[in-house]
Parts: sequence; structure tokens; C-alpha cells
Amino acid sequence: MSQSYVIVGDGIAGASAAETLREEEPDADITIITDEGEPLYNRILIKEFAKGKLPEAPISIHDESWYDDRDVDLELNTLVTDIDPEGHTITAHDGTEYDYDKLLLAIGGTPTQLPVENSDAEGIHHFWTFQDARDIKEHIEGADNSVVIGAGLLGIDLAAITAAQEVEGKYLMRGKAWWRYALSEEGAEIIHEALRERNVEPVFDSGVDHFEVDDDDRVTTAVDPNGDRYDADFVGIAIGLNFNTEILGGTDIEYDNGIYTDEFMRTNHDDIFAAGDITEFHDLILGDRAQNGAWGSAKEQGTIAAKNMVDYGSEEFRWVSSYSITHFDFPFLSFGHPTLGDDHVEAKYSDTEWRRLAIKDGKIVGGVLIGDLSPQTKYKKLMREQVDVSGQKEILVKQDFQLDDLEGAAAEQ
Ligand SMILES: Cc1cc2nc3c(=O)[nH]c(=O)nc-3n(C[C@H](O)[C@H](O)[C@H](O)COP(=O)(O)OP(=O)(O)OC[C@H]3O[C@@H](n4cnc5c(N)ncnc54)[C@H](O)[C@@H]3O)c2cc1C
Repeated sequence: MSQSYVIVGDGIAGASAAETLREEEPDADITIITDEGEPLYNRILIKEFAKGKLPEAPISIHDESWYDDRDVDLELNTLVTDIDPEGHTITAHDGTEYDYDKLLLAIGGTPTQLPVENSDAEGIHHFWTFQDARDIKEHIEGADNSVVIGAGLLGIDLAAITAAQEVEGKYLMRGKAWWRYALSEEGAEIIHEALRERNVEPVFDSGVDHFEVDDDDRVTTAVDPNGDRYDADFVGIAIGLNFNTEILGGTDIEYDNGIYTDEFMRTNHDDIFAAGDITEFHDLILGDRAQNGAWGSAKEQGTIAAKNMVDYGSEEFRWVSSYSITHFDFPFLSFGHPTLGDDHVEAKYSDTEWRRLAIKDGKIVGGVLIGDLSPQTKYKKLMREQVDVSGQKEILVKQDFQLDDLEGAAAEQ
């Protein structure tokens, strides 16, 4: 009898899993369910659409015929509300039940709402879906002034959108630096300067206490905790993700921030797997539980999950994740877990070139490179191979660092 696979989520993790499952099992029944109204698109590129730099068409990855051609049942606009692990069934919002032999949860996250007065007013945007990008584009094109909140990788996309659309902006940050958990003030200053050049002013030690609205409930002003007021008819908020774990309530599937999996992407249930942003997976490189929020990692996890759904234990997830930013004249890349570590080393080489490596127990666990990305392969290799770089951290940030520069065990790698 053919196996029946059900995938919840048609993001890159779910769609890659469907593709791999079909390659591995030509006769299996495969269903993929999403609450979105359109099949897989490139979430990384929706910012370019909102900036006005790309039309819609190249952002779509699969149209519905892609699923038909592979005999994969695609259910759009379908929110899964319940899982019954014992009965091997999931239920959708309209009561439809889907039986599975193996289930994959590739359900990602939803932007966190800012818990302040009027944060649901007209003109305030969050950013995760293509539809969000369409709404943002339509609004920003006619906006006079903007405020962006959230000093991280998605917040800077919103700031870059306001810049590209030539709308004067204030970027309100809680500390004294953009992405202060991964960059020092010196490194972040390169980003601040690039924002200023694009008419986006970083405002430090700020944030939002509440929003003011007009009679039509449209946002007019952001008021920060210091009482400073910033006029804005466009507001973008990116303060993090709430992972979509609510459907796990009432089950004994283990989760915390995300769903716990082993290195084969299996949960504590033999027939239930998870992949993508939603997982808190056993990271073989870190030797600990970790969560990634990056396209390449989600794609790889979907593929690995599918292989292990077919043949458990066949391939483990061992991956150094990367995330690049392309808004500025200089390149920017973060890799691994740049916000973790018990030690770090950094160096600045010019006004647009800087590096920082995060180190844990003597090993590189992540980093940020600005200006020159060429050493990334070496750092990732050291990280993947868990090379002990204790006592040699200054060598790592020599501008023309080579693996041979490291002594002892590290140099043999
Ligand atoms: C604007 C933006 C820019 C980004 N830029 C980069 C970048 O430059 N580089 C990079 O590496 N990463 C980037 N990312 C992050 C990257 O896109 C994500 O890490 C990746 O898309 C995660 O894929 P996923 O499949 O795990 O989850 P998602 O893409 O979030 O897919 C999960 C899907 O499941 C659906 N779903 C959830 N719950 C249910 C349910 N109960 N029933 C049915 N369907 C459900 C969701 O609607 C969603 O469609 C960016 C993200 C955004 C939003």
C-alpha cells in the first residue's frame, strides 16, 4: 500500500519536502496544506517587490501546475487547527480531516504584534507574506513620512523599503546600535551611516510607547518612551516572530519556542516531523538545541525531513546557516549563530569593512561580515569542523586571514 504524507505549510521548507518526497516515493499520496492563498513564492524577494525594484512574476516560485505535474494535492486557504497524533489525523478550520501515515509541520512563524496602544491602527504594517508586501508597497508609495521599529534583519528591510521609495524615515531602536546582539556599536555604525545616506535616521534608546491616530483610526504619530514624537503616516514593525505552535496545544508533541526535533528532523512522535523556521532542532555543530531563521536552512531542513520520513536515520541535518543583506553599496553577511557565544573577536578595516566572530567553548559559532565576504568559506569550515581556535582569536580577524595561519590542530584542517 502506498504511504500517505501530509505537509502543513507551503513555504520553502514544506515545498522542498514535497519535492523530495515525490522524488523518493513515486507512488506515495502527498498533500500540502497552506493557509495562504498562493503557492510557494520567494519570501526573500518580497522586499524587492515592496521597494519597487521587482515586479510580481519573478517572486512566484511554483504555480499550481507545479503541484499537478507532480501529483501533489495542494490545499490553499486552509488553516490546520488540530492534530491528533494517536489517530494520525489533522483537522482544518472547515472541519475537513486529513489522514496521514507521516506528517510534516513546516509552519513557520507570524510577526509579533507590538503590545502598545493603537498598534492595530490603519497604516501600521508587519512584514511576512507576499500580501503584506503588496499592502506595504501600495501604502509607502503615497506616504509622506515613516517610522520603522525593530532593529534586526527584517526591520532593516522595512527601513530599506522606505529609503528606496524615497520616504523620509525614522528608525527607532531600543539600544545604541542596530542588531546589538550580533554587532558592536562600531560595526553597527557602518549600517547607521548607510541608512543616514538614504534619508533614514536611526534614533537610539527609543522605541514606541504608543501611537496616535486621526478620526479615521489612521496612524499619525509614534510617541517613544522618552515622550519624543515622530510624525508618520507609514509605520513598519518587525520585532520578531511568534512561532505557530498553537496547533500543538492538546497534543504531547514537545515544543518550546519552536518544535523540538532531533538531527533527522523528527519530533518526539515517530510519524511526525518538522522543518524550517518552526524547529528547535538538535544542532550537531553547536551540540545544543538551536533555531534558524533563514531560507537556505529551511530549504535544507525540508529536504532532510523528507528523506527521513521515507527512511528514518538516512541523512542528518548539519548546516551552517547564512543570511545576507543587499540594500547597501557594501555586502553584509551573517552566518551561524552570531548572537550566541561566551567570547567574540572583531576588527574594523575601513569605513565599510568590519568583521566579528562569536566563539563558544573555544569554537566559532557564528559571525557577521561587512564589506568583504571572502573569508566566509574559511570561517564556516572552521565552524562546521568544530575546530578549537582557543588562544588564536586575533589571528582569525587578520584582514587576509588564511587557514594556514592557525597553529596546531586547527592548522591541520
Ligand atoms: C521580508 C523577509 C525577508 C527575508 N529575507 C531573508 C534573507 O535575505 N535571507 C534569508 O536567509 N532569509 C530571509 N528571510 C527569512 C526566510 O524567508 C525564512 O527563514 C523562510 O522563508 C522560512 O521558511 P519556512 O518554510 O520555515 O516558513 P514560512 O515561509 O513561514 O512558511 C510557513 C507556512 O506555513 C503556513 N502555516 C502556518 N501555520 C499553518 C497552519 N496551521 N495551517 C496551514 N498553514 C499554516 C504559513 O502561512 C506559511 O505559508 C526573510 C523573511 C522575510 C519575511
